[in-house]
Amino acid sequence: MGLNKQHVLDALASLQDATTTENLVSLGLVRKVAACDDYVALTVAAPEDEELRRRLKTDIRSVLNEAAGQLGTEVKQLTVDFVVPTGDETPEPEQQADGRKYVDQPKTIPLKQAASSQTTTSGKATTGAPSMPGVKNVIAVGAGKGGVGKSTVSVNLAVGLARKGYAVGILDADIYGPSMPTLLGLDDLDVQLHDNMLQVMYVHGVKAMTIGKLVDPEKPLIWRGPMAHGAFKQLAEQTEWGELDYLIVDLPPGTGDVPLTMSQMLSVTGAVVVCTPQKVAQDDAVRAVRMFQQLKIEVLGIVENMSYFIGDDGKEYDIFGRGGAEIMAQRLGLPFLGAIPLNMAVRQFSDAGTPRRNFTDAGETMQRSLEKFTDQVEVQATLAGNRMGSSRPTLNVT
Ligand code: ADP
Repeated sequence: MGLNKQHVLDALASLQDATTTENLVSLGLVRKVAACDDYVALTVAAPEDEELRRRLKTDIRSVLNEAAGQLGTEVKQLTVDFVVPTGDETPEPEQQADGRKYVDQPKTIPLKQAASSQTTTSGKATTGAPSMPGVKNVIAVGAGKGGVGKSTVSVNLAVGLARKGYAVGILDADIYGPSMPTLLGLDDLDVQLHDNMLQVMYVHGVKAMTIGKLVDPEKPLIWRGPMAHGAFKQLAEQTEWGELDYLIVDLPPGTGDVPLTMSQMLSVTGAVVVCTPQKVAQDDAVRAVRMFQQLKIEVLGIVENMSYFIGDDGKEYDIFGRGGAEIMAQRLGLPFLGAIPLNMAVRQFSDAGTPRRNFTDAGETMQRSLEKFTDQVEVQATLAGNRMGSSRPTLNVT
């Protein structure tokens, strides 16, 4: 059995205040707890004192490790987001062991709010505040057309970066055909609203948000321009991401309203363009590259998905003409981020919503390809970040 919310709260309650008989939980300093499959994410109120926060995090890690040990498991990942105490902390109203849900007062999401959110006449986002202050790098994933594996690549990138120890979020901004509920296996989870902020779902070591959990999955999603703008804006801005090293944004295919809104709203580190090897796919990918360049978003590079097929016999078959995207990248003067093969296990793990298995159970070639691709994006994002004047992301996750 893995750690659930109640185990985490019990463990945190053992952290006593030095001067009173109170503890971290009874003082109301634990603002949020998420525990799922031994991934734990916390929001804790503590003064802006680096040394104190560092010590507190060490203590939290230690009591959680102990609690996990007693259950015969281990904490796979711990993220602690600190917020400044307001002085009127009160204990959590309820501390039931739901194990998966983030907040205690579930509400449905007012989707109308997303649809009615409008641009100002200048076309800029209506709120002027910096949209995501805790997010160090935003990486957009785009493709010239649907079906090339853009969402699959986004998920594997997010999981790959999380496996390297980064704090990662994934935003399914494919508002016309959101696939994250399937790819991340979100069926049993609900998006909660707390203090008017959408709460992320914590799965496979990443924080996730998708419009697919806010709308009827059976209904076609038809958005007019301003509605698409409002939906993206709400998803990006009204989601409580906390501190992130990387936010991966899975864009809708093609060139449309959402990339435009994103470029107005967010400081994007760079874009990854997903392409398959065929000539027709390359033509579309070039259009996607040009769109990002027009929007002044740096293209980090091109990744060739479904590059070749790995059969059950372990042999590699060049079905679509492997290498086409690499040649295109060279022609455009862009980095080539790697080739990801087509493999039955990846399709199965995608449908089952278990993407971490792509790195462990889909064969050595697939694992190496995904890791190499992740490394390449990390390198290119760091270079792009440096060019933008920001520093390399720091590690804040164990
Ligand atoms: P897009 O976001 O471009 O529309 P998806 O990521 O939804 O594409 O992928 C389309 C389908 O192809 C999905 O069923 C997915 O599981 C499958 N797929 C994508 N990439 C691979 C791959 N490298 N190996 C096997 N199946 C893949």
